[in-house]
Amino acid sequence: MIKITLPDGSVKEFAAGITPMDVAKSISEGLARNVISASFNGTTIETVTPLTTDGSLVLFTWNDDEGKKAFWHSTSHVMAQALEEIFPGIKLTLGPAIANGFYYDVDFEAHKITDADFKKIEDRVLEISREKHEFKMRPVSKAEALEVYKDNVYKTELISNLEDGTITFCDHSTFTDLCRGGHIPNTGIIKAMKIMSVAGAYWRGDEKNKQLTRVYGISFPKQKDLTDYLELLEEAKRRDHRKLGKELELFAFSSKVGQGLPLWLPKGAALRDRLEQFLKRAQKKAGYEQVVTPHIGQKELYVTSGHYAKYGADSFQPINTPAEGEEFLLKPMNCPHHCEIFNVRPWSYKDLPKRYAEFGTVYRYEQSGELHGLTRVRGFTQDDAHIFCTPEQLDEEFKKVIDLVLYVFGSLGFENFTAQVSLRDQEDREKYIGSDENWEKAENAIINAAKDKGLNTVIEYGEAAFYGPKLDFMVKDALGRQWQLGTIQVDYNLPERFDLTYKGSDDQLHRPVMIHRAPFGSMERFIAILLEHTAGNFPLWLMPEQAIILSLSEKYEIYAKKVLDLLENHEIRALIDNRNETIGKKIRDAEMQKMPFMLIVGEEEERNGTVSIRRHGQEGKGNVTVTIEEFATIVTEEINKTLKVFTV
Ligand SMILES: [Zn+2]
Ligand SMILES: [Zn+2]
Repeated sequence: MIKITLPDGSVKEFAAGITPMDVAKSISEGLARNVISASFNGTTIETVTPLTTDGSLVLFTWNDDEGKKAFWHSTSHVMAQALEEIFPGIKLTLGPAIANGFYYDVDFEAHKITDADFKKIEDRVLEISREKHEFKMRPVSKAEALEVYKDNVYKTELISNLEDGTITFCDHSTFTDLCRGGHIPNTGIIKAMKIMSVAGAYWRGDEKNKQLTRVYGISFPKQKDLTDYLELLEEAKRRDHRKLGKELELFAFSSKVGQGLPLWLPKGAALRDRLEQFLKRAQKKAGYEQVVTPHIGQKELYVTSGHYAKYGADSFQPINTPAEGEEFLLKPMNCPHHCEIFNVRPWSYKDLPKRYAEFGTVYRYEQSGELHGLTRVRGFTQDDAHIFCTPEQLDEEFKKVIDLVLYVFGSLGFENFTAQVSLRDQEDREKYIGSDENWEKAENAIINAAKDKGLNTVIEYGEAAFYGPKLDFMVKDALGRQWQLGTIQVDYNLPERFDLTYKGSDDQLHRPVMIHRAPFGSMERFIAILLEHTAGNFPLWLMPEQAIILSLSEKYEIYAKKVLDLLENHEIRALIDNRNETIGKKIRDAEMQKMPFMLIVGEEEERNGTVSIRRHGQEGKGNVTVTIEEFATIVTEEINKTLKVFTV
């Protein structure tokens, strides 16, 4: 008999040789129907792999990431089979699952795959799938594997790097592939499949190698899942921050200025500034002090901090001064500068914590192919701050940072998030810097703070950086996509490297603990995510313009100007559209600009001292006619719904 531990901690005994599928059946028929993949002692296995030792078993369904991975990887086998049938003589290489679907890298030789072939391939994949072929793993000797693939240089290369005795093939239908495993029980559950695109990809990602064709696909257990997915992609396209950023005139890129270096246009700069002011106000209340540091720093600074060893060779190279032979680096991180600010004078424990905040612009080299709108850039501004505190204060400081992050999320409409806590690897404590006692303290501080604040928490062992544990906020946007926003990181390393000290109550010198934190992360990436989350309909307090006054004709220009002045008195950001255009055209343009309120003014409004309000996205002229005072109240009330006052 063997003992199988399940994720809920329960232990069940089974005869040796039982399969994960059998275990599922012993729990419930319903579970057995849905299980599509499994892992045993952390290693992915097949649902039909016999278990012969004690161990921990996890069963996965489509709802688990691991389940999707097995589903998509299995589909890549079926697609490879279809491709081989349709394009005889092609050479298959690798076909892994990715975040959304899978791909297969193929050397098409004399063939060429085009969009026109997609339908035929998809149909064939579904035809094979309907035949319910089981995926069967089988061990092969290295010699046998090399013989099978003697005409395929790519597989030959892969096999050559494998050890004899560890090589396996996977068979289904008439098709065989070199594979490590991790498949669904049979092809029958693949009910929908689509080829998304084809692209060039160098063998093993090396541009010195031959360029292959990467065929991207995705598959689902229900046709409706595919329809929903395609609809989501369409919506994501409509909300693409690069498209919206252009339409709303927020930011731009110039090939003359350089790739990955965003230019903030007036409206975007105003939006950014509003976000900065918002956070600065809250930070001031939370006891932060603003500092400013230069965009470059001496190379030695980053050698001390360790950043040079880590990023130096792979990032922007040093800037040399002409006469003195000095070397400077573009600042990749603000932390070293803030450490030196802390070092300017001696501190007593009574002075701590010190909280230095800076909207600090940093520069990091990214390959041009990796650049993407505002989410992957070469220069960006972090809403950075570093807290220097005593180990005893860590608990309290952590809670305060969480409060600030939650305030930021609440004011910007992010409601769906989890806190991911990254701790040490339980097995291997050697690789971490700092004493065991301090780590214990810091890890408990984070876990307690997350619990105390009622956060939905996921704990990841072994995910901590070598210098300290951290908490990341994983936020789901309106399209259900997950983003990492807001990091709080404990650091024992930099205080050591920069020899930071404070005098304790015992009159001895001690090391402070450092916390790095950035609720937005970077202004660029945050605004990109916010744009896609809101589709450009930012919370009213943040909108570049909150209202536009549309005059029915030039006769009402003077009244429109008067309305604008009154709105300004109420600190409502507005502008007038007095172009010689029809009201219909003016409304359409204002809708395009996502203007929250359109205030239509004509004869009646002028006579009564009112405006007719039309809200963005709502049909019909003048849903309601109100006085300026009433309109100001509507705006204030709406703003107060999202933008609360930060209290500590
Ligand atoms: Zn496989
Ligand atoms: Zn930092």
